[in-house]
Amino acid sequence: MLPEMLTKREHALPGYIPPHKRDRRRADSHLRTLETRQKEKAALEAQLEANRLKRAEFWQQNGYGWLLRLDRYDTWKERRAAYKLLTEERAELIEKLRQKTIDLHRSPEDKDGDGLVDTDQYPDKIGQKRAKPAWIALVDPANCSGCSGHDVKPGEWVTPCQSVCPVDCISHLTPEQITMHGYDRSVHANVPPVQIRFDECIGCDKCAQACARDAWNAVTMIRTEKLEEIFGITTGTKYPGRASNDIDFAKLDQLTDEEFCSLYTMV
Ligand code: SF4
Ligand code: SF4
Repeated sequence: MLPEMLTKREHALPGYIPPHKRDRRRADSHLRTLETRQKEKAALEAQLEANRLKRAEFWQQNGYGWLLRLDRYDTWKERRAAYKLLTEERAELIEKLRQKTIDLHRSPEDKDGDGLVDTDQYPDKIGQKRAKPAWIALVDPANCSGCSGHDVKPGEWVTPCQSVCPVDCISHLTPEQITMHGYDRSVHANVPPVQIRFDECIGCDKCAQACARDAWNAVTMIRTEKLEEIFGITTGTKYPGRASNDIDFAKLDQLTDEEFCSLYTMV
């Protein structure tokens, strides 16, 4: 039985579904016509809009009092449960739309249809990245524990995400970065979070899968173009590349819900 602390930790990005849980049927999507897939996407968009209207109506009818966590009022408990259903439906629809959008923009090289770089597209050597990937890995520093005990120093161990990265572009924060930016020591007192070197990341998704299975689900694949737009950076194929902890994570807090979702969906 896992301690409650473990079961309570959820990924910071609502609706994110680790790749190994995604709909495998997408791999066969090329059997359906583009028009059919576009219609399916339009239907999902209509459902998402209906969900938005339902949520707006809910706020109008029920006010905000039920948000307080006073479980002694049964009606408030019921309202919380009802609203949770709506938000879960929204998260599910957003993820389906994301999958559908990846599906529509599937490149001919993407043989398994997962929207990610296939292994035969990996560079022959580290430092020889071929192109900017459509999706790039971002570690949520508030969720990453650095994956180690208390008696080792950064660089002296390999974390689950590092162990699977084919281009070795994940490292712990450097002492200089820790001095400059700090990190949340309530997550792991002595071990800093890891970071991705964006210019080296080939967008293969392996680290996100490893972290989702073995650790905290702290890595999310996000759209490269959105990452550049929101953080005002340019990613490329430079080696060694720019470290992700040098972006201003506070910008994430300034995003609206829609902008936040656009980081990892096309909606
Ligand atoms: S596996 Fe996840 S929690 Fe562990 S170091 Fe990597 S990103 Fe952080
Ligand atoms: S997606 Fe993750 S595992 Fe793949 S290259 Fe980027 S950092 Fe490495």
